Amino acid sequence: MAETGQSTATLRLKVGDLQIAHPLTVPTRPVAATAVLPALEGLVNAVVEAAEKGKAISCRKGCGACCRQLVPISRTEGEALLALIEAMPRERRKAVRTRFAAAEAAIARAGLAERATRSDRESARSDRALSLAYFALGVPCPFLEKESCSIHPDRPLVCREYLVTSPAELCAGPAQEGVTPVPVPKLSAGARRLQDESDTWFPLALLFAWSRKRPVSAKRRPGTEWVQRFLGSLTSLKS
Ligand code: SF4
Repeated sequence: MAETGQSTATLRLKVGDLQIAHPLTVPTRPVAATAVLPALEGLVNAVVEAAEKGKAISCRKGCGACCRQLVPISRTEGEALLALIEAMPRERRKAVRTRFAAAEAAIARAGLAERATRSDRESARSDRALSLAYFALGVPCPFLEKESCSIHPDRPLVCREYLVTSPAELCAGPAQEGVTPVPVPKLSAGARRLQDESDTWFPLALLFAWSRKRPVSAKRRPGTEWVQRFLGSLTSLKS
């Protein structure tokens, strides 16, 4: 049963061959979009679990090759990650911020910063040359520690959706040839339109570069309304 001030509804989702029934609990009062992120993370986890059923997943703790890819995240996830870093103990926060600064500098030196954050979002997203050039830099995600995700429970939605069945060593190849990702419906794309009308994302490694220019005002809406906006943006999803 939902606590007072919260609403629970079972979401029935059919994406491709997958059928999911998943309970979503969100606040009924006006909240920032970040307040519904835990519910969306639970939904993405459920979809991924259904998609990987019966498949031999090669991804293992300690294998962080994919954590050198360009990781597109939404404004809402960016706001949640900034709050997560802010809440870290001082020394840890300093270490994470130092890694972000190093990643940002490496991306800028390679001349990829503008290309990876340009306003022409659709073509930037499908820019394979950009993805390969970014991966070739070998810039580890600032949250990667000992080749494992140090924020695993709070990692972005798109990180949850990336699993492979091919041999792990192929993931480190320059063109990632032979890598076979599990076809997971990309619900993470829905989060990109949560606060904005357009498909808004930026590379995770440029979190602080984005935060220096980010919109200052954030709308508050009932949690149920945020979920409706999220679901509305999923209509164009392909598996
Ligand atoms: S957030 Fe975690 S899973 Fe995602 S790229 Fe970074 S280290 Fe990897």
